[in-house]
Formats: sequence, C-alpha cells, structure tokens
Amino acid sequence: MRTKDRRTKVAAPKAAPAWMADLPVQIGQQYEAEIIGISHDGEGVGRVNGFTLFVAGALPGERALVRVEHVKKQYGYARLLRLVEESAERVMPDCGIYEECGGCQLQHLSYEAQLRVKRQQVVDNLQRIGKLAVAGELPVGRTEETTASDEGIVVHPTLGMADPWRYRNKAQVPFGEERGGLIGGFYAQGSHRIIDMEECLIQHEANDEVVARVKEIGARLGIRAYDEARNAGLLRHVVVKVGFRTGEIMVVLVTNGSTIPRVDEWVAGIREALPAVKSICHNINVKQTNVIFGDETRVLWGSEVIYDYIGDVKFAISARSFFQVNPVQTEVLYGKALEYAGLTGDEVVVDAYCGIGTISLFLAQRAGQVYGVEIVEEAIADARKNAELNGMTNVHFEAGPAEVVLPEWTRQGIRPDVIVVDPPRKGCDAALLATILELQPRRVVYVSCSASTLARDLRVLVDGGYGVAEVTPVDMFPHTVHVESVALLVRNETDAEKPY
Ligand code: SAH
Repeated sequence: MRTKDRRTKVAAPKAAPAWMADLPVQIGQQYEAEIIGISHDGEGVGRVNGFTLFVAGALPGERALVRVEHVKKQYGYARLLRLVEESAERVMPDCGIYEECGGCQLQHLSYEAQLRVKRQQVVDNLQRIGKLAVAGELPVGRTEETTASDEGIVVHPTLGMADPWRYRNKAQVPFGEERGGLIGGFYAQGSHRIIDMEECLIQHEANDEVVARVKEIGARLGIRAYDEARNAGLLRHVVVKVGFRTGEIMVVLVTNGSTIPRVDEWVAGIREALPAVKSICHNINVKQTNVIFGDETRVLWGSEVIYDYIGDVKFAISARSFFQVNPVQTEVLYGKALEYAGLTGDEVVVDAYCGIGTISLFLAQRAGQVYGVEIVEEAIADARKNAELNGMTNVHFEAGPAEVVLPEWTRQGIRPDVIVVDPPRKGCDAALLATILELQPRRVVYVSCSASTLARDLRVLVDGGYGVAEVTPVDMFPHTVHVESVALLVRNETDAEKPY
C-alpha cells in the first residue's frame, strides 16, 4: 500500500498554479522577444507582451524567436531558437569551446560593447539600489523627454585592456579520465563532467603549455585521475601560476592521497619539459569537496614561492596565497585607487580587507603610514613578508575582522586621513561603515567587485555625510560578466567641527 501510494504521488501531474495561466507568456510557447538589456549573468533581458524573459545568448538590440521554458510571477527564462534581428555588436567567439565551458559569458559581444555594458551595470546599480543620481544619465523612472541630469556621480568609461586575451596568471584545471586516458580541462557548464581542453584563450600561454606537458607526463607515468563519484583515484587538480613580469612558474599537483607514485620521475619530467618552472608543490586533499586545495602543501622541488610585480612592488606568491589573477589590470585598478587616495606623502591610511597587502604596499609608496587589516591569518603573514621583501617599514598589518580591528585602532588613537576598502562580494560589514562614519576620514576609496553591494554601501556613506565624487569601472576579467570598480568618496566639508 505504502509503495503504491508513494508512486501515485510521484506520478500525479502537478497542476499549474492559477497565476501561471494569467501570465502574458506560457511555458512551451514560442514568441518573438525584443532584447532590451543584459543581466548581471550575461543573459539577454527580453520583453514579450511587457513580460521579462531572460534569454541566454541574446544581446541588447536584438529580436529573437524564443521558447519559454520556465516562469515565475515576475519573469521567466526562454531558450533562444533563432535571431530575427542581429546586433551590430555581435561577434563570433574566438574560443571553440565557449558555449560548453561557461567560464566566459560575453565572448559573443564585441569588447568595446562589453566595456559599455559593464559601465551600465554600475550606473544601474547606483541608481536602482543606491538611489543615487548619476551625471549624464536619466534619473530612474523617467524615460520620456526629461533631460539627463548634469548633477550626480560621474561614472567614467570602463578602463579596459588593449589586448583582452591571455590575461590570467593562474589556472586551476580539474583532471579526469576518458576511455582510459588522462584528461584535464574544465567542468562542462552546470555539471561536474570534465571536458578535455588544450587551450584557454584567457590564460597566459605558459599555463596552457604547463597543463599540456603535465598531462603527457601523467599519462606516461600511468597516474590515475581522481574520480569524484567513486572518491577514488589520485590526481584531482593541477594548479599553475605564472609571474607575468618574472616569467617564473609554479606547478601544484593536488592529489587525493599523501604519496605520488614515481614522484622523482614527475619532478624530473616537469623540470626537463618546462625550464621556467621554479617551484613544484604537492597539495593533499582527501576530502569529498568542491574546494580545490587541502590543508597540507609540500614543496617537491625548488622554491616555496614564485615572485611577481604589481607596478614597482614585488610579491611572493605561494601555492595557497591569494594574488589578483589579472596583473596587468590590477596595476590599472590600484593606480586608480592610489590616484583617488590623493596622497602627498604623510597621510595615515587604512586598508581594510587587505588580503596579502597588495593595495597597502602600493599605497605605502606614497603615504606616511599604512595600516592593513585582513581576516585570514595566513594572508597577513604573507602581507608582512611582502612588506619586508620590499623594504617597506611604514606598514603595519593585523589579522582580524576589519569591523573589530578598526575600532581598536581608533581606541589606540590612530586617525586615518584616507580609508581604502576592498571587501568581498557581500560588501562592507555595517559595523565597519559605522566606524568609517565615526572616524570621518577626508577620503574613502571603495574598491568593489560587486556593483550591487557597492551601491548599497555608498548610500550608507552618502547618508553619513560623504559625497561620491566619481566611480571608475575597471575590466579585470574581459569576456566574463564580472565588473570591478573604484569609487572616490569625499567628506562633505559643511560641518565646522570635525573629530580631528
Ligand atoms: N585587497 C586585496 C584582497 C581583496 S579580497 C587584494 O586586492 O588583493 C577581500 C578580502 O577580504 C579577502 O582577502 C578576505 O579574506 C577579506 N575579508 C573578508 N571578510 C573580512 C572581514 N570581515 N574583515 C577583514 N577582511 C575580510
């Protein structure tokens, strides 16, 4: 009885809820959609009878025949069947595996248009989430003859790359087996099926080369790749890092198990095939997890770190340490942050969310004293080493949550002229924003990887007495939907009394 009941329950077709029948579009039906924008995931935002449909692969300005696949009350998702009118900005993706991979989302849009789209994302977020006026843009909700406002935040054009390819310094390649052979590449979009790959056009050539050679060596030595489903096999990932300026390369073999059979032959093979390799490491990860690295890393051969530069500052990069993946644009981004900080040489600067101290050291070149805070202890250890490496003595790093450490520093009498924040996607902690407003630094420079939380946090700072002077989007990840930006906030000088 019980079995039967259960079966009946599963088999019973779910009646479509009443609201669905009232929607202007129906699942399974075809419509011609007008594409009016692009979502933050890179899908075309289409309209059919006033209803919003997200259409992957479609671009603003296009008309497309689509089939509705999925609906919610306010919007739905449709499959692109055919383009009726094509955008002049549509280009053939250079990458042969663009659609399978999903690592890039905007290769079908010309690079100039990508930069414009990214700026627009920042503008939209400032207006809609931050409720902030943007110079040269229509105020939100006004579409007709209203002229664009002259007042408000200046959002500059996105700073892009002259050559937006081969920009990544780090590759993390999952390994698997196919018909008995070793493969390494990427997870097919939305799955954990590994597809073999020979080149990735956004990776530095050296990374492709290393992965190819490691694949050959692994096949020759008969290494078994890790099989996620069975939790068996050895080689999980190969991680490659390259210093753009130094040419130094690190190879990390991530394995499910603490020993690598024929390890000496591995090392000899890599050294022979790839003379630029300065470090071969072994990371052990025996957990059933999506996280790439395990806790233990050993050096199999060579140095524990490789080096690279951002501007004139030298950084040591270890297997686990975080380092910005696009060093060319990192210099552009930090250059903008430095410009916005307006340093003359004796300012006290706080760099909250400082990671391995990249921005702190960059700013320390022009500041009196820099204080960096970061929640990950290992990153702070790296930051201190990096300060030493550059002979910089005017920086002090402390591990802990910025929202806790900053008030401590305040109690110690530290009064920053400039506070730089570079938080993760979720934005700044409310307590940190409150502390900034208490401290009233002359300038706040906000480096952001999420336009929506940037807009939310700018609103708090504006309400607390700051003016947003300008925002510059910087394209750190060409062909993907990620948008990075730097904002300059300046304290309003209307109050006569300042805390210091
Ligand atoms: N500025 C660095 C890192 C930015 S990434 C760079 O450009 O390289 C954001 C950093 O914030 C991460 O290193 C993360 O570990 C750190 N972080 C996250 N929450 C934090 C918190 N509450 N306090 C301090 N740091 C935090």
